[in-house]
Amino acid sequence: MGEIFVVVEHRAGEIREITFQMLWKANELAQAHSHGLTAVILCADGEAFIPAIRERADRVIVMEDEKLKHFNAERYKEILTGLIEEHRPFLTLIGHTPWGMELAPGLSVKTGLPLITDGINILIEDGVPKVIRQIYSGKLFSKVSFKPSEGYLISLRPGAFPADKLGDLQGDLLKQNIPTDIPEPRKRFVEFVDTAAGKLDISQAEFLISIGRGIGEEENIKSVQELVEMMGGIISCSRPVVDKNWLPKYHQVGTSGKTVKPKVYLALGISGAFQHVAGISGAGTVIAVNKDKKAPIFRIADYGVVDDLFKVVEALKDKLKG
Ligand SMILES: Cc1cc2nc3c(=O)[nH]c(=O)nc-3n(C[C@H](O)[C@H](O)[C@H](O)COP(=O)(O)OP(=O)(O)OC[C@H]3O[C@@H](n4cnc5c(N)ncnc54)[C@H](O)[C@@H]3O)c2cc1C
Repeated sequence: MGEIFVVVEHRAGEIREITFQMLWKANELAQAHSHGLTAVILCADGEAFIPAIRERADRVIVMEDEKLKHFNAERYKEILTGLIEEHRPFLTLIGHTPWGMELAPGLSVKTGLPLITDGINILIEDGVPKVIRQIYSGKLFSKVSFKPSEGYLISLRPGAFPADKLGDLQGDLLKQNIPTDIPEPRKRFVEFVDTAAGKLDISQAEFLISIGRGIGEEENIKSVQELVEMMGGIISCSRPVVDKNWLPKYHQVGTSGKTVKPKVYLALGISGAFQHVAGISGAGTVIAVNKDKKAPIFRIADYGVVDDLFKVVEALKDKLKG
């Protein structure tokens, strides 16, 4: 039935969470539809990556070269095109991350294979993948199908699947050399600037009180800050709060901010756009306060309060004082 390829994403020597999420989904599809599962690692030194990937794939293709230490979309595109032409996978999965957004469209053009981006689920019907996507800021779901093709490319949204192991594999290792004839890329890696380079690191916090655009004005943050101090948490926020310069960037949660894993995440006036909720998929208990009962954040929240956030903040403070 052909293979499913998963392109391993890593940064600064660590495998990114999206890789494990893609492997989880790929394993589920492989088991249900009798596909083989191959993970592809392009890196400078695979030693640190291989064990965790082998446990989740039937086969691991590794290409090691100093030139692959940092992601470069042009180089990846050339190498993956060669691997796809050689192995002819049925399906290739890439993360819908800044990394994958740069890689996937060019790879589709170069290989001639169709691409569906930003999938939150994949079904295989009559031997052809169908992809579930969210549209209109998560208010509706659409099911998108491909025209029959030799192979298919899909980029998957971070946070759409668990990162757990499915089954107990110990994939075969296949080391291949990087092709010698790939052109020198026009772009080069300069430096990686971490958004957490601030006074505090929200990614390590156990309790986060997070504010969104619903906070209304900068001066209203003071009231939430008081609650944060009383409850012993850390304040975090959605992107509009940072865009307005109300809090520094290192407070931002989401795909272009930090991924957080607190035991409790209290979201105040946050609608729940996917770029935000992707950053809290590892949170323990999510409590959302929003005056709009249809806000998408309630789909993922464990507890929800449909009310004005300021009323809730004041009530909590009164309770803590009393
Ligand atoms: C490439 C890209 C990357 C992005 N990265 C991120 C990211 O990392 N993190 C991120 O957060 N976003 C990110 N975004 C933006 C994201 O798409 C949303 O626009 C953003 O998350 C919305 O923030 P919000 O929920 O605070 O605002 P809104 O969507 O405007 O929601 C405000 C909510 O507050 C509620 N509200 C208003 N007043 C009150 C009140 N008094 N009491 C209670 N509820 C109230 C409203 O009902 C509404 O649901 C990114 C976007 C792009 C295109």
